[in-house]
Amino acid sequence: MENLLKKAFDPKQFRKDGYALIDLLADFLQNASEDPSEKVFKWQSPDQAYLNWENRLQNDMVGSSSQLFQQVLAEAIQLQNPNYMGHQISPPVPISALAGLVGDFLNNGMGIYEMGIPGTAIERVVIKVVAKVMGFAEDAEGILTSGGSLANLTALLSARSKKTQKNIWEEGKSGQLALMVSEEAHYCVDRAVRIMGWGKEGIIKVPVNEQYQMRTELLEEYYQKAKEEEKEVIAVVGSACSTSTGAFDNLEAIGAFCNKHQLWFHVDGAHGGSMAFSGKYRHLLKGVQQADSVVMDFHKVLMTPAISTALIFKNPEDSYQTFSQKAHYLWNKGETQEWFNLAKRTFECTKVMIGLKAYSIIQIYGLELFDEYVTKMVDLSKSFADTILQHPSFELALLPECNIVCFRFFDSNLSNDTLNELNNHLRQAVIEEGNFYLVKTTLKDKVWLRTTFANPFTKEVNFKTLLNQIEVHANLKSKDYQTVKPLNF
Ligand SMILES: *Cc1c(COP(=O)(O)O)cnc(C)c1O
Repeated sequence: MENLLKKAFDPKQFRKDGYALIDLLADFLQNASEDPSEKVFKWQSPDQAYLNWENRLQNDMVGSSSQLFQQVLAEAIQLQNPNYMGHQISPPVPISALAGLVGDFLNNGMGIYEMGIPGTAIERVVIKVVAKVMGFAEDAEGILTSGGSLANLTALLSARSKKTQKNIWEEGKSGQLALMVSEEAHYCVDRAVRIMGWGKEGIIKVPVNEQYQMRTELLEEYYQKAKEEEKEVIAVVGSACSTSTGAFDNLEAIGAFCNKHQLWFHVDGAHGGSMAFSGKYRHLLKGVQQADSVVMDFHKVLMTPAISTALIFKNPEDSYQTFSQKAHYLWNKGETQEWFNLAKRTFECTKVMIGLKAYSIIQIYGLELFDEYVTKMVDLSKSFADTILQHPSFELALLPECNIVCFRFFDSNLSNDTLNELNNHLRQAVIEEGNFYLVKTTLKDKVWLRTTFANPFTKEVNFKTLLNQIEVHANLKSKDYQTVKPLNF
C-alpha cells in the first residue's frame, strides 16, 4: 500500500505525465483551430458513452494517463474549433487553463484566509477590476463564486436580508415576498425564488417587447397589482442580457424604478456583463452602476475556464448580509469588513482558486485582450445577422445586440408548425453530422436556431458554410413536406 502511495505522488512520474499532457493539449489546440477537416462534435448516445467508459474501467483498457486523456479529448466537444457556435461558453485562453491546473494542484481551501492567501488576495483584485470596468465606486466589494446561477441566488439572499423587516434568517417565516423580472430571464432566477421559499407567487414576470426586452413601462402597474395582492416586492432583476435572444433590458429605467420604490436592483449580467470590457459595446450596460448587485460570468464571453463568476455589490456592507439578517448584529464592528475570510460571504466552504484563471489573463495580456475579443465576437454576430437578412432561405428573429443570433430556415410555403418541425430536424441533422455545433430555442410559438459566437477564430467563411449545410439538409427534408398546403397565402 505504501508503495502505491509513493508511486501516485512520485514527482518524476508527474513531470513525465505533465509534459506528455501539455503536448496532447497543444496538438488538440492546433488541430481544432487549424485543421478544417476536424469535426467539432462526435455524437454518441448517452447510454453508449456510459457503457464505453464503464467498459474501459472494468477491463482496465486504458493503460497510461496519456491514453486516458487522449480518449477524453477525442470524445469531447471542441470549443477550440471555429465551427463551434453553440452554448454560451468560450474556449479558454490556454494560459488560464494552466492557472486552473495550478489551483487544482495546490488545492488551497480558500474558505478562511490562511488556507488560500494568494487566492484570496487575487480574488479581491479581480473583483475590483470588474467593479471598476462596470463603473462602480472604489469601495464596491464582491466575491467570486461557482457560476451565475449560484451568484444570482447569493445576490438575492442579500437583497432579502436588506429589504425585509422580518428576521427570516432566524425565524424562517415571511409573508409573500416577490421580485419582478422579465419573462425572458434565465431560469435560475425562477429557481432562486423557489429555493428561497417564495413559491411561484414570488416571481412576477414582466412581458417583453418586440426586441425581447423587459417592458419597463409596465413595472409600475405590475408593482401596484402585486401590492394589492399583498405581496411584498423587494427587488427587480434586469437581464443583461437574456439568455435566449441576447436582449439587454433597459437598466437605466429599471434603476430609476427601483430608486423610486426603494427596491433592490439586481442585474443578471452572467452573459452580457462582459460587454463592459468592450469600448465599442459597453453602452449596452448603461445604468449598470446604479445596481445594488451585478453578476458576471468570466467563462461565458471572457475566455476563462468554468466556473468563474463575479458577484459585485455596490455597497460593501451588502456583501456581508447574504447569510445573516443584519451583518452588524453578528460580528464585532472591526470584524464586519473582514473581506479576507471568504466563507462568510460565499456558499462555498472549501472553495477552489477561481480568481487565478482570470487574473492570469489580465496580468499577461491586459484588459485589451478582453476588449479585442468581445468586440470581435459582437461584430461577427452582426455580420452574420446581415448575411441572414440578405439570404432568401433564412429569417432572423431579431437584430442581435451582442454575440447571440437567433435565426431559422424559412419557406413561405410551409406552415409555422411545419417550419418548427423542420428547424428542429435541421438542428439535429447538423449536430449529428458534427461539422458545426449550434443550439435552438423557442420564442413565442416559433423554433429558432441559435448561435453564440465564442471562438476567437470564427470567420465569415465558417458561418456561410453553416448556412450552406443547413440549406442542403433542408432541401433533402423538404421532399417530405410537398403535400403541405401553403397557409398564409
Ligand atoms: C448562463 C446564464 C446564467 C447561468 O450562469 P451559470 O454560470 O451557467 O450558472 C444565468 N443568467 C444568464 C443571463 C445566463 O446567460
